[in-house]
Amino acid sequence: MYERQRKEMVEKYVVAKGITDEKVIAAMRKVPRHLFVEAAMRHQAYLDKSLPIGFGQTISHPTTVACMSQLLELSGNERILEIGTGSGYQAAVLAEMGVKVYSLERIADLARRTQRLFDELGYYTIGTRIGDGTLGWTAHAPYDRIIVTAASPDIPEGLLKQLADKGRMIIPVGEKTEQKLMIITRDTEEYHILEDYTRKFVPLIGKEGWTL
Ligand code: SAH
Repeated sequence: MYERQRKEMVEKYVVAKGITDEKVIAAMRKVPRHLFVEAAMRHQAYLDKSLPIGFGQTISHPTTVACMSQLLELSGNERILEIGTGSGYQAAVLAEMGVKVYSLERIADLARRTQRLFDELGYYTIGTRIGDGTLGWTAHAPYDRIIVTAASPDIPEGLLKQLADKGRMIIPVGEKTEQKLMIITRDTEEYHILEDYTRKFVPLIGKEGWTL
């Protein structure tokens, strides 16, 4: 179902926007985005839109997912920490790229619903946990990549510590209304920061994020 619409989405938005990473393009041709949104929103699932997923949260635009996935510069055998499982779409795209994903979500009911979906679709390389992602997930650290899919007032210290040497982290940082995507690379104890375009994400709520 929706195969034609999915291919069109990739051509019309993802490729048109300048995404060139073939692994990202192939993954987005595969992941059934309509199953990651509410049933009433399915007909809009292959437009370049963020959509409500319940609990006051949203699934990111397909082009945002494509862009963040490309910025991670994956070869396919990395271990990734994702903060903000949400609908699970971003994690599924990464899983299709062959990496191992550890994903944290603070809203328990949303996390459980998404875990069920991963089970149904057979995404067994995604590990999930309910908790405050601003503190990371120490049990599996360090991570080759860290992707934060909610907006933070600044870069959580704990996450920097859990990034592997030569690792790379993508995080939207700024005000609640608007943020800049930051690309952080680690070189032993030195961290280099690059800024990408302005974006709009839902807030990262937690000890090292925004307070509720
Ligand atoms: N990656 C998701 C994006 C969901 S929106 C997708 O593809 O659909 C961001 C998610 O981050 C929301 O579900 C929100 O509840 C979650 N979130 C916000 N603060 C968090 C925190 N401190 N720890 C874990 N998850 C958090």
